Amino acid sequence: MNIYNTLTKTKERLIPRLRGAEARYGEAKARHPSADSTDSTSSLQAGSSQASSGLGKIQMFVCGPTVYDYIHIGNARTFVFFDVVAKYLRSQGYEVDYIQNITDIDDKIIKRAQEAGQNPLDWAKEYRQKFEEDMKDLEVSSPRYIPATDHIKQVVGQVKKLIEKKHAYLIENDGYYFDLKTFPEYGKLSGRKSEMADDAVTRIDENDKKRNKGDFCLWKLVKIDKELEIGNSKFEIANGEPAWGSPLGWGRPGWHIEDTAITEHFFGPQYDIHGGGQDLIFPHHEAEITQQESASGKKPFVKYWMHVAFLINKDQKMSKSLGNFETVNELLKKYPKEVLRFYLLSSYYRSPLDYSDMMFKQSRVAISRIAEFVQKLEKINGADNKTADQHIKEAKKKFVEAMDNDFNTPEAFASLFELIRNLNPLIVSNELGKEQVKNLTKLLTEIDEILGVIPEEKQKTPQEVEELVEKREKLRQDKHYAESDEVRSEIEKLGFQIEDTMYGPVINRK
Ligand SMILES: [Zn+2]
Repeated sequence: MNIYNTLTKTKERLIPRLRGAEARYGEAKARHPSADSTDSTSSLQAGSSQASSGLGKIQMFVCGPTVYDYIHIGNARTFVFFDVVAKYLRSQGYEVDYIQNITDIDDKIIKRAQEAGQNPLDWAKEYRQKFEEDMKDLEVSSPRYIPATDHIKQVVGQVKKLIEKKHAYLIENDGYYFDLKTFPEYGKLSGRKSEMADDAVTRIDENDKKRNKGDFCLWKLVKIDKELEIGNSKFEIANGEPAWGSPLGWGRPGWHIEDTAITEHFFGPQYDIHGGGQDLIFPHHEAEITQQESASGKKPFVKYWMHVAFLINKDQKMSKSLGNFETVNELLKKYPKEVLRFYLLSSYYRSPLDYSDMMFKQSRVAISRIAEFVQKLEKINGADNKTADQHIKEAKKKFVEAMDNDFNTPEAFASLFELIRNLNPLIVSNELGKEQVKNLTKLLTEIDEILGVIPEEKQKTPQEVEELVEKREKLRQDKHYAESDEVRSEIEKLGFQIEDTMYGPVINRK
């Protein structure tokens, strides 16, 4: 299994920190080449059973949403992708502890809540719930969600440690800041320096008394005319601003500290995989490295850094500030979850993904091709077929190879479509037996548990229309265009319209 690491800018072999057992994985593959995927009764899992129990544990953290509004489809790319990462690694025999934080205290939340005249924590709670519903509807089921406000104590503990080690300083009536001069390695993830932080600081990090330009806020003080009460539950809202009572004074966490406080609490000062959107590399992830390595003195904080590229809409990156996005909630009303998952996984995660109607249409056709194929399997009763067995084994092998190569989901899909293409003629000529169907169903189920793209519901196009669509396809292939247009009109008279895409025709009710 190889993963592209943003920190080293190379593809590296995945070796879990806890039990470096990738070697055993490789040995198992060498010892049992047949177990790799050629044995049609074995699962997708590459190694033998003893390998599966010894592959090791992977601790993975992905930056979650700031819950001030519905999330957009660009955010969903990150969350669906890492859901696939966790599910695939688990399918291969790794134990994966996957955590995602929920930023439920933040300037954006405070601002929105103030505008609406509401309590910021209630506001965050409402959108946290909406976020989790969206994730459930998208079949994202692998992470544990950890809200930041449940870990204020850990945040304060980490800030205190940074103060003790002289990495942090106080600006009166403002807050505690990280002193970047104390961490010369700042910039090692992004290749950027603190002087270049201008475009990336938020309001919370601005103060002209800072020692260095890129110094960022760890604990923002909030002025409260009330005796300081210390404790996790000592919480006040002053002028709409939430504040927790702490030995540092009334205040709230800075932008970057919640993640390292949470991961140190659950994983310790070092762990395996940290993921997020590309836009978080600088300054957010850079700051996380700075904080945690300074606090613990242990390096590297994270072994593998993985970043998901943007969605591209008319050459602009998709972001909330540009307003050129659709929310997941809106898109789920238009498309089944399988279509959205297929769309989000149809491009390699490190490449930009086009955001256009055509892309959704193509995904829809791709999904119906898979669905049609699965439905056909129910009727099969031919004789056993060795060629078909070979195709199934081959598809399984290619799927694993694609995923092992830095989670190349488009190639994984390609292996599935190649299998469909190879088996379709055998289905038509009734040359597929029950044994193949059994193996095939098993493989499809395993793939679906990872990618989540096989619809449960059956297609609802009437038989008559489907037959006409097939007839038209045949005519088009034979270049009888005039006749194919006539068939198209017949289809339209029945209340359906047909649209041609790179995956084949798509049928919609008019
Ligand atoms: Zn984060």
